[in-house]
Amino acid sequence: MGFRVQYKGTMCVVCGKEIAVGTMGDGKKGAYRHECCKPVELPADAIHLNGGSGYGCPGWERGQVVWNTGGKLGSTRERSRQEIDQLFAEWRKEHPEPSYEAMVNHDAPKPPRFDGKGGCDSPEYLEYRRQFAAYGEEAKRWREQLGAEYEERRQRLAAAVEEDRRLVREALAAIQAQFPEDDGPAYLFVLQASKQYHREDGMSFGVGDESGHTYSAACRPATDEEAAPLRAKIAEAQQAKHKAMDLKVLEERFIKEGEYVARGEDGQAHILNGEQVNIGSGQSIYGGGRWFMIEAAGERAAPAPEEIEAVRAEVDRRKHALKTASERLIAWVQENLPATAPIVVANKGRWPYDGHLYSDGDLAALGEKRPTYEALLKEEQRLSYTTSPDSYHEPQRRLMALEQALALSRYPRSIWHVLNNGSDGDDWSANNVRTGGAGAIGRRLPYSPELDAQVRELAPFGPKQRHY
Ligand SMILES: [Zn+2]
Repeated sequence: MGFRVQYKGTMCVVCGKEIAVGTMGDGKKGAYRHECCKPVELPADAIHLNGGSGYGCPGWERGQVVWNTGGKLGSTRERSRQEIDQLFAEWRKEHPEPSYEAMVNHDAPKPPRFDGKGGCDSPEYLEYRRQFAAYGEEAKRWREQLGAEYEERRQRLAAAVEEDRRLVREALAAIQAQFPEDDGPAYLFVLQASKQYHREDGMSFGVGDESGHTYSAACRPATDEEAAPLRAKIAEAQQAKHKAMDLKVLEERFIKEGEYVARGEDGQAHILNGEQVNIGSGQSIYGGGRWFMIEAAGERAAPAPEEIEAVRAEVDRRKHALKTASERLIAWVQENLPATAPIVVANKGRWPYDGHLYSDGDLAALGEKRPTYEALLKEEQRLSYTTSPDSYHEPQRRLMALEQALALSRYPRSIWHVLNNGSDGDDWSANNVRTGGAGAIGRRLPYSPELDAQVRELAPFGPKQRHY
């Protein structure tokens, strides 16, 4: 007999889904179902699952296959609870619990009993009162006669209770050991699922939170065919976990054994070329993330020593030329500018030209013969490294690049592990690799085809960042 569902949140006990308002339902209070969801006849050995949303349980659906981790559910032990209780009860009969009555109070006078008949004025009650008073006296005498023995008996009882607890633990363990607890079916098939909402008093219903759902399901063992997709998924997840662990070991190897090549002398971070292989999701927009860089063959050719020497000689020559030129300038200023020439207020940033050529002391030495602005500007332009053919800055940069290339060329080809280190809170001073951001810390190992293959195989199993 069906009926039209009137309230939101009416759940079907067969499929575990909501029965929409206005559609047809069936069943009794507490066990409503979709009219089309025929009640399932559950086998007597159905395996029951229970969970609460507050414990992170997402619930179950009819037809779902569930992984029975550790084979606990439906194990022999779980199915044999009654038998286990029975065996324990039998053991208990032979190992009675130590009692106050048996160990302390066994020879004490017993109090009289009154069966309540006749009420408070009856002769029976008066007789009972008389006997109780006599019992009180007798009990007092018994206790006095017992003396220290009473306390000893109590201590014997306490020790026996302690010993009994130990024996119970052992006996239960021995009984349970006869019933395996891990032989339940590895995969369960949900025959029926239900979901119930609890408001506020959820705790007492196993929700695990103030309010939320409790879920239950009745299952049978899944067939191999039913379990196959889930089994494959689990195997894949386990494999990914192993690969992630292997990746961690590989990254640790780069960090421990990899070579950290310092930046060039002028602070130039290395520019890495090659194939970038992201670790997980790779570089993040916040300056984090990690990746490998596999250099192409022949990427790191060593510069010829003669080339380095030639550039070094050129730097020295130009430094010397500049020194000579500036000495000439000082001499020229001293000779050619009369004491009456207009005094120039020098722009600190432009004059002295090179920071070290003219100190404040030099200026003082010039005395009244300070150069005119125009005269200085002309000479400055001649000497300035941006325009003068005498400038040593350009060859010096080339020399540093060559020295950096020489350091890098110790491995003709390498694989870099790059740890992005450009977030706001990071210490950027260790960054030796250039990125689009504040830089990264790179360590490298010599290239080998094995390392290349390992890097490509494991890198995808690195952490995945969520992009919101
Ligand atoms: Zn249903």
